[in-house]
Amino acid sequence: MSGQDGIVDAPWISAAQARNAEHIGREIEVRGWVRTRRDSKGGFSFVELNDGSCFGNLQIIAESSLPNYQADIHNLSAGSSIVARGIVQASQGGGQATELLAKQIRVLGIADPQDYPLQKKRHTLEKLREWAHLRPRTNTFGALTRVRNRLSQSVHQFFQEQGFYYINTPIITASDCEGAGQMFRVTTLPLDHLPLEKGKVDFSKDFFGKSSYLTVSGQLEAEIYATALGRVYTFGPTFRAENSNTSRHLAEFWMIEPEAAFFDLQDNMLLAEKFIKRLLRDLLDSCGEDMAFFEERIQPGVIASLRQVMEKPFEHLTYSDAIEILNSSGEKFEYPHAWGCDLQAEHERYLTEKHVRGPLVLYNYPKSIKPFYMRCNDDGRTVAAMDVLVPNVGEIIGGSQREERLDVLLSRLNEMQLQAEDYWWYIELRKFGTVPHSGFGLGFERVVQWVTGLGNIRDCIPFPRTPGSAEF
Ligand code: ATP
Ligand code: MN
Repeated sequence: MSGQDGIVDAPWISAAQARNAEHIGREIEVRGWVRTRRDSKGGFSFVELNDGSCFGNLQIIAESSLPNYQADIHNLSAGSSIVARGIVQASQGGGQATELLAKQIRVLGIADPQDYPLQKKRHTLEKLREWAHLRPRTNTFGALTRVRNRLSQSVHQFFQEQGFYYINTPIITASDCEGAGQMFRVTTLPLDHLPLEKGKVDFSKDFFGKSSYLTVSGQLEAEIYATALGRVYTFGPTFRAENSNTSRHLAEFWMIEPEAAFFDLQDNMLLAEKFIKRLLRDLLDSCGEDMAFFEERIQPGVIASLRQVMEKPFEHLTYSDAIEILNSSGEKFEYPHAWGCDLQAEHERYLTEKHVRGPLVLYNYPKSIKPFYMRCNDDGRTVAAMDVLVPNVGEIIGGSQREERLDVLLSRLNEMQLQAEDYWWYIELRKFGTVPHSGFGLGFERVVQWVTGLGNIRDCIPFPRTPGSAEF
């Protein structure tokens, strides 16, 4: 038989299909990579094949009567690529519904066991980072890849169903969204021969005629589209040159940024909660085998804790109440937690892990620690910001209602010593038909880290970029 519904008229099917009992009795072909080979005393071999289509392997029985048994099959080792044709039969052993009784096995490429690093022995995740070209062949990274894929699909499904348009915002930008540093410069100026003007680099000679950078967020541009089309979202790469070697920061990560006109802070918080719950539901519904692996090998209890998150409403706390809770917690913290301080990871983790033991939405932060675009509250000292924190990871979402009042926006820019000229187009949105609007940014790898229980965000993206590391 041939692969149904394929793009090409493939003569082979996937291991996932072949593992399904409906194929018992049929002759099929599969193609993939050998995970292990075991020889039985009975004069045949078990070859475990994986082709990425599912977590489980397809067990292939290779009898010694096959013409190339001694020459090829008997020497098959982990990492080799093969094409196997045979009859699907009910599996004799436990653990799988079917197995393939091979009629023919063709070896496409061997992997010399002397050189191939992924032998049976388990390797640490740190070691596997050095082999980012081979780590997708491990159980962990196969499962991770399918989980990331499913979550990406849900991101689009959720927002499309809610009436949001997917837009693409620029990767190269001349505006610094957060009003803070930590951006990667983009330049074509010769570094060994910089054009100078009064002792300073003359960026008017640079490619874009001014300083430009890799974007840290698509928010400001998303606001442009939200104030025309109502609801939009981005899902793209963002870059931050923060030299923090933590287990929760990457220099290049993917962010989902919805922006919605006529949404206030409450609507924004509700959108975030619905979105997160939808991601979890889809994940648990369709990545059962992969999640069972993370549960068993990476973080016992992770599935039950995600189920709990889906069932309960998120807790909400104002920043001021959170400070009170920290003050009376009796915990020893490394960093101060007086009103007006930025919350550190240790504070966020105390609140979400010990105080509420689940997701927590913190809102109404001091305006002094938040960017210029967040909407000022009537108390004069806080802004309509909201962060979503989760156990083990901390902040996964940062968002706010945006300042839509022209005069307030201008005085905020002034207060923060930002040049209004640099934001002329952002300001014009408030001159021409301004409306209340809100949005947030969800760090995709932070979500992957949370749902898999992986300890380090470097293992939540195929090719991590971190200080000192951009191999592959
Ligand atoms: P943090 O305080 O954790 O450094 P942030 O407050 O600087 O994050 P935001 O500017 O609010 O982050 O960005 C929105 C979201 O993007 C965050 O909630 C987080 O999920 C994610 N994020 C931010 N920085 C990084 C990073 N360096 N690597 C991976 N994800 C990140
Ligand atoms: Mn934030």
